[in-house]
Amino acid sequence: MNKLFDSEKYARAASEAVEKAGVVCRAVQSRLDEVRAIAKDDKSPVTVADFASQAVVVRVLRELLGDVRVVGEEGSAFLRDPDHAAHLGATLNAVRIVWEGCDEAALLDAIDGGDAEPHADGFWTLDPIDGTKGFLRGGQYAVSLAYISGGSPVVGALCCPNLSRDFGRSFDDPDPHGSLYVAARREGVRVQSAMGGDTEPVSMRRPGREEGAPIRACESVESAHSDQSASSRVLEIAGGAGEPARLDSQCKYAVVARGQADAYLRLPTKKGYVERIWDHAAGALVAVEAGCVVTDIDGNLLDFGQGKGLEKNRGVVCADPGVHSRLIGAIADIGSLRG
Ligand code: AMP
Ligand code: MG
Repeated sequence: MNKLFDSEKYARAASEAVEKAGVVCRAVQSRLDEVRAIAKDDKSPVTVADFASQAVVVRVLRELLGDVRVVGEEGSAFLRDPDHAAHLGATLNAVRIVWEGCDEAALLDAIDGGDAEPHADGFWTLDPIDGTKGFLRGGQYAVSLAYISGGSPVVGALCCPNLSRDFGRSFDDPDPHGSLYVAARREGVRVQSAMGGDTEPVSMRRPGREEGAPIRACESVESAHSDQSASSRVLEIAGGAGEPARLDSQCKYAVVARGQADAYLRLPTKKGYVERIWDHAAGALVAVEAGCVVTDIDGNLLDFGQGKGLEKNRGVVCADPGVHSRLIGAIADIGSLRG
C-alpha cells in the first residue's frame, strides 16, 4: 500500500460517493415507468441509473481525492452513440440531482473515469448498481465501492437505499431511509441511514448468536447466480432454519454483518463462472469488519489480487464464525459442487 494512504480520508470519500450515487439511483427507481418511456426500452432505468451512479461516484472521488484509479463496470460508448440520445438526456437529468451544472461532456468524462484496470499500487472497484434485477423489481440493490490494495479490500462503502435498519421489515418492502455501511480494514464498520434520517454513523458489530440455534441463511433471488437446491441440502446437513431469505445484491453481506442472518451462501451454478471483484469487495469487507468469516466454498480467503475476477476462488460463504466451518464441511459433504 502506498505511504500516503489515509484510511479515514478514503472511507469518508467512499461514503460520500455512494451516498450521493444512492440518491440518484433512488430517484430513477421511483420513476421506473417514466424512464422506461423516455428511452422506450424496458432495461433503460437500470442503464440510466448505472451510468449516473458511476459518474457521481467518480466525480466525488476526484473532488475529494484528486486523480483516482477506478475499475468500474461501465464505459461511455453506449451513451456516446447518437441513437441513445434519450438515455444520455435521462442520465444527465438524474446526475444533476446531486451534481448541479453537470453537462454532457463532464458526464461522459466522469463515466470514462471508471475504465481503469486493476493496478498493483491500489485501485477502486465500483459496481454502480449491484443487483440489477432487484433494482428493476423495486427491491433491493446496492452501490458498492471498495479500495483494493495488496490483494484485499482495505476500504469499502456499501449503500443499500432500500434495506431497512429495522429487522421487522420485509426485504420486499423498501425503506424510506435505507442503510449505508462503511468499513476500513482492522478499523471496524459503521452504519448510518442512506437517505437522511439519523445520518450520524454508529459503529456496528455482529451480535453473538445463541449456540445450537438453527442457522438462518440468505442467498440470491436468481437461481442462475447461486445453486438454491444445493444450499437447501447444505443447510439440512449443517442444521438450517428452513428456507433461506432471498434478496438481490451485496445487501446479503450487510444482512449477515448486522446479525439478521447467520450466513450468506453463494454456491456455483456452473463450472467456470468467475465472480467479479466489484460484486464482493465492499460487502465482504463490511462483513469481515463486523466479525464474520468470508471465504470461498473451499474455505479459502477471497483473493482480490487476480485482476477483475476472483480467479482463484469458487463461490462465497459469508457466515458467523461459530457456523462457518460447519457450512464449509457440509458443502464438502455434498461434493457435487466441486468440479
Ligand atoms: P445477486 O444479486 O447476488 O444475485 O448478484 C448479482 C450479480 O451476480 C451480478 O452483478 C452479476 O455480476 C453476478 N452474476 C452473473 N452471472 C452469475 C453466475 N452465473 N453466478 C454467479 N454470479 C453471477
Ligand atoms: Mg453486480
